[in-house]
Amino acid sequence: MLIGKLDDLPRSILAHTPTPVDEMPNLAKFVEAERASGACRLYAKRDDCTGLGMGGNKIRQLEFYIGEAVARDADTILITGAVQSNFVRSAAAAARKAGMDCHIQLEERVANPSSQYRRSGNVLLDRILGATLHSFPEGENEAGADRALEDIAGGLRAKGRTPYIIHLGPGHPPLGALGYVVAAREIFGQINETDLNIHEIVVASGSGATHAGLLFGLRALGCDIPVKGICVRRAKDQQTPRIINRCQEVADMLDMDNPVRNEDIEINDDVLAPGYGKINDAVLHAIKAAAHCEGIILDPVYTGRTMAGFLSRARQAKAGQNLMFIHTGGQPAVFGYEDVLGPMLSSSL
Ligand SMILES: *Cc1c(COP(=O)(O)O)cnc(C)c1O
Repeated sequence: MLIGKLDDLPRSILAHTPTPVDEMPNLAKFVEAERASGACRLYAKRDDCTGLGMGGNKIRQLEFYIGEAVARDADTILITGAVQSNFVRSAAAAARKAGMDCHIQLEERVANPSSQYRRSGNVLLDRILGATLHSFPEGENEAGADRALEDIAGGLRAKGRTPYIIHLGPGHPPLGALGYVVAAREIFGQINETDLNIHEIVVASGSGATHAGLLFGLRALGCDIPVKGICVRRAKDQQTPRIINRCQEVADMLDMDNPVRNEDIEINDDVLAPGYGKINDAVLHAIKAAAHCEGIILDPVYTGRTMAGFLSRARQAKAGQNLMFIHTGGQPAVFGYEDVLGPMLSSSL
């Protein structure tokens, strides 16, 4: 199934695909007890199982960044992100697989971090992968972080290296979203092959690359399944224009008309409070429910919050509907949040 220029763009295969679609019958039963009427079926698209460097959604996204880096003969990948960023850890692994070095800039976005937050989880993996770590003292200064990264690139060029910067901020083409256009094609194939009738897909909406790519890919294939984006970082009024822009940028990269209408963009921020990376009751409940019912591990920043949104949708869904949760990974972060999460686990589900 062709989608614009998708198959002509530079890409390095990094992810183990297709990732499985698992049914979650115990979780469905658990939710049924809380529902007004009738049964639903719940499914998880296991993109935590993309393999490389402990997996997750960023491995699919990196296929297009690394593809471009290879096309430009780069020898070093540069990236900036939060201290417990899954993206920078995945970039370090992808760089190694492509035979490159990696420089990571970690932004101090969390006030008074614990020693686990600073050293365990993704940070430990960054170090195992042998990435060079830099620190950026301001958390919410996207432009400043980008300039600091440019400075590191300049230093590398002066030494004769060829750096490739993975730019994630607005103003740069969201190449990573293309990984989720590919994922949309995979999901569309899986549900057709198995005659699975999915009525709604629920996905995390952070930078929006995953949400926009998935929605774009489905609509480009003529598939009308509603896609609900769950805000993990910004409120709905900021996230909506972001997704609109990202979809148009994907259309531009693929040299095709944008098949996504504004009314296709459905965003929910009911479980965002009190903010990015903060665990609320619904997130804690979702983490425990997925683990106790299905043995599925979720993280407190992204997938726990998205599962909280998914369970809320499952409680409202009509009898006989089938819902799909996109598991975007992030498990290494649980070790970085041990001090916060650990004490909350003693209460029962
Ligand atoms: C980055 C990330 C997300 C959000 O994906 P975006 O493409 O940035 O919206 C969701 N889940 C996990 C585990 C992530 O690491």
